Amino acid sequence: MAEIVFDQISKSYGDGYAAIRNLNMTIRDSEFLVLVGPSGCGKSTALRMIAGLEEITDGRLTINGAIVNDLAPRDRDIAMVFQSYALYPHLTVAENIGFGLRVRGLDKADIARKVQETAKLLELEDYLARKPAQLSGGQRQRVAMGRALARSPQAFLMDEPLSNLDARLRGQMRAEIARMQKMSGITTVYVTHDQVEAMTMGDRVAVMKSGVLQQLGTPRSLYDQP
Ligand code: ADP
Ligand code: ADP
Repeated sequence: MAEIVFDQISKSYGDGYAAIRNLNMTIRDSEFLVLVGPSGCGKSTALRMIAGLEEITDGRLTINGAIVNDLAPRDRDIAMVFQSYALYPHLTVAENIGFGLRVRGLDKADIARKVQETAKLLELEDYLARKPAQLSGGQRQRVAMGRALARSPQAFLMDEPLSNLDARLRGQMRAEIARMQKMSGITTVYVTHDQVEAMTMGDRVAVMKSGVLQQLGTPRSLYDQP
């Protein structure tokens, strides 16, 4: 569970180019926030800041009230999924989902319980013994999410996770991700340039343009604006 606050955050590169300017934004505990805008507007940069993968030039980023500007990625409890999901091909679905837990030294029974729980959330229970090559594209993407979620992170970040899937599967996964987020209640930030995803998936939408936050509100409130 996490509340994430961008407090006057800016990001400039060496050449002085400002990728993000004075960003003020609160991501509420347990909410599904979609960060949308054209390519190059700063979405990924903002997302990567939460994971600790991007140096912050100015301002304060807090997670549950603690300033995390200088906290290393491994010292944060944040999970992230990208558009290209690298599963371990020689491991089963169950082993892929449990991988991070094994690395953390959890005992076998705890791992098995957590893998079951995660597989249930993602409707992968019937596929636990399969290898990634025996899964459909949508199932593989769900396994990648399962691997990220199994360790119950404070927050879950997704960067264009559906852009490599075909249109039919994308539609299906939009609904599944939204359902899974509601069931898990995990604070989720979802980056996309897709208007449909922005308007259908999240509790609130943050619209960015040229490094500036332009609007932040429920999909409905954004629709209703002229
Ligand atoms: P988005 O995710 O919205 O497509 P990004 O956050 O990836 O945008 O990038 C924001 C801006 O910062 C872009 O204009 C990009 O060109 C610029 N940028 C990203 N990385 C660097 C870098 N290492 N050096 C200079 N500019 C960069
Ligand atoms: P989706 O609707 O997710 O795209 P597909 O139509 O690709 O699903 O696959 C339908 C079913 O076939 C899935 O349940 C999947 O597990 C199974 N399947 C797909 N590819 C393989 C494979 N290479 N080996 C075994 N089962 C497969």
